[in-house]
Amino acid sequence: MRDTNRAPTRRGALQLALGGAAASAFASGAGAQTMTIKPSAHDILVVVDVQYDFLPGGSLAVPEGDAVIPVINRLATRFAHVVLTQDWHPKGHSSFASSHPGKKPFETTQLHYGTQILWPDHCIWGTRGAEIAKELEIPKAQMIVRKGYRPEIDRYSGFIEADRKTPTGLAGYLRERGFKRVFCAGLATDFCVAWTALDARKAGFETYVIEDACRGIDTNGSLARALKDMDEAGVRRIASADVA
Ligand SMILES: [Zn+2]
Repeated sequence: MRDTNRAPTRRGALQLALGGAAASAFASGAGAQTMTIKPSAHDILVVVDVQYDFLPGGSLAVPEGDAVIPVINRLATRFAHVVLTQDWHPKGHSSFASSHPGKKPFETTQLHYGTQILWPDHCIWGTRGAEIAKELEIPKAQMIVRKGYRPEIDRYSGFIEADRKTPTGLAGYLRERGFKRVFCAGLATDFCVAWTALDARKAGFETYVIEDACRGIDTNGSLARALKDMDEAGVRRIASADVA
C-alpha cells in the first residue's frame, strides 16, 4: 500500500529532474491529495517560525498559532531530520510599520525591492518574542536558519530574502546533505511557510506543506493567494495524518 503510494512520488522527482515541460505536468497534479508518506533519510521537516511573537499573546500573533505545536512535535518524531527557521530582526527593521512615519501595521509601502507589507514590531533580537517556543520539543533539530537580520531586507522564505535574489544558503545545505523532499510546517501559512515552500520547489526539491501543522495570518486575501501560488507551483498539500 505504502509502496504503491510512493511510486508517483518517485516519478514526480524524475519529472522534476527533467525540468521545464515535465515539471509543469507534475505541477498540474498538485493540490490537496491523500497519500501515506513514510519519511526516509532523504526527507527533512522544515519548521518555520514557531516563535512567541507569532503565538497568541505575541506582537504578531497568528490566530490559533499555538495549535501547531503538538502537531509539529508529533510530526518531528516521524522525521530523522529537522531544521528550524527563526525570524530575527534588528530594532527599527524596515518591515516594521514603526519605521515608516504615518504608516500602520498591515499597510504596505515601497522598499527598494518592491512592495512590503508593514508589520507590528516583532521577533527583535534578544527579546522573548524572538525565541523559538520552548513548547516545541525537537531537540534533534539540526540547524536554525535565521532570517530577516539585514535591516533593509525582510525575509519570509527560509531560502531567499524578500528582494528575491539574496540566498540564505539553506538550499545548498539541503543539497549537500542529500535531501530530496522538503516538508514544511509552522507559521504563517500565507507568508513564511508559503514562501519557504515555493522557494524549496524552485530549488528543485519535491515539496510538501503539512496543512494542519500550519496556521495563517490571512490579511487582504493573502491565504487564498498563497494556496493558489503553492498549487500552481506544484507544492503538495497534505495532512499530518498522511505522514506515517
Ligand atoms: Zn519578520
